[in-house]
Amino acid sequence: MQVNTLLKPTWIIPIVPEGVVLTKHVIAIADGKIAAIVPESEASQFEAKEVVELPGEIVMPGFVNLHSHAAMNLLRGVGPDLSLMDWLQKKVWPLEGRLMSPEFVYEGSRLAGEEMVQSGVTCTNDHYFFPVDAAAGLRESGMKCAVSAFLIGFPSAWAKTDDEYLKKAGEVIEHFRGDPMVHVTVSPHAPYTVSDDAMKKLAALSERNNLPIHIHVQETESEVSNSLKQYGMRPIERLKKLGIVNERLISVHSVHLSDSDIDTLAKAGSSVCHCPSSNLKLASGFAPVAKIMDAGINLGIGTDGVASNDKLDMLGETRLAALLAKAVAKDPTAAPVHKMLYAATMGGAKALGWDREIGSLEAGKSADLFSCLLEEITSIPVLEPAAQLLYSAGRESITHVWINGQLVVKKQQKAESFRGMSRTKALDIAHTWQNKC
Ligand SMILES: [Zn+2]
Repeated sequence: MQVNTLLKPTWIIPIVPEGVVLTKHVIAIADGKIAAIVPESEASQFEAKEVVELPGEIVMPGFVNLHSHAAMNLLRGVGPDLSLMDWLQKKVWPLEGRLMSPEFVYEGSRLAGEEMVQSGVTCTNDHYFFPVDAAAGLRESGMKCAVSAFLIGFPSAWAKTDDEYLKKAGEVIEHFRGDPMVHVTVSPHAPYTVSDDAMKKLAALSERNNLPIHIHVQETESEVSNSLKQYGMRPIERLKKLGIVNERLISVHSVHLSDSDIDTLAKAGSSVCHCPSSNLKLASGFAPVAKIMDAGINLGIGTDGVASNDKLDMLGETRLAALLAKAVAKDPTAAPVHKMLYAATMGGAKALGWDREIGSLEAGKSADLFSCLLEEITSIPVLEPAAQLLYSAGRESITHVWINGQLVVKKQQKAESFRGMSRTKALDIAHTWQNKC
């Protein structure tokens, strides 16, 4: 069989089936898709134009970043040490008010796309103004994305009134209809910035077009208490009444969830997007991730924008999510490795309704994947490849990224020497002890 590329890594995490690490297998890529994953002994059936040897490397599907504000890469680091409301009202919203334009969004998204692909992210779910420009910027890196049919209840350079936001939301949906690389989500900013009337119209728009609803929900304690004061109910109860809580909902942050909120989201088949760095930096709190997973809610991971993170590093984000989930649940068996890697890939793909094409390495799916060098000084010996990818490796160790089978990132190998010890010598020591473990 003729294929374009044959990858020969030391390990493969296909994500589906769950919990599996393959060794001595090859990945055949043809026409932008995974043609097959077979044992090395069966590799001779493929006639490949290109063979990529990846010794000491682990390959897995590209990360799906379930929540980003790509254009905010131009505001990296703005307003450290502030609460969410001070950060938004004193820093972010005034700056955005001054700078917001198609050029700002395009240029910022271009930088974010580059940062993300270099970090193994092959698809991002963006939440921002000027979505056509955001998509154009993100697409420069080759990555897939979902962009926003966006609405916030105050005037911006993108739109002045709810009606204008809604009109533009409809236009954005039409603009990208049928686009294999750019999807659209219906994106109200948050319960506290969108009226009941606009929320109902967005719910109808999502239903009519069968599109996900992407919204920040119950990020802070004050959001919940203000909603109780203003509406006599918690934000999730209000969103449920307005037709937003269903299987298309991507409930972002969702830090302050009661057991009854979790029950509501689970029964509705909604997804939650966890953004731990942003929640920590803004001191929003600790999301009950283990409870969310135990309730059977689909979980995805997001970086949020770099102004509150300040990295678009999904590997680091997933590591932090796993560590925090264990500590919050007071249970070291919570948030197991393979479930967290699933959340960072298939969890995001499912939430976006994109899981038939992306999120795992299965024959027929898009060849969106990355390779990470595990056999280096920071992560040897490799006794538990999946755990060491999550807990020891960093995004700096990602060497190659492919999207639709096209190589979009190839990094130089690391320096051979570390304080005079060659990588070969370090590997010799690691392998010797590894064999005794
Ligand atoms: Zn956000």
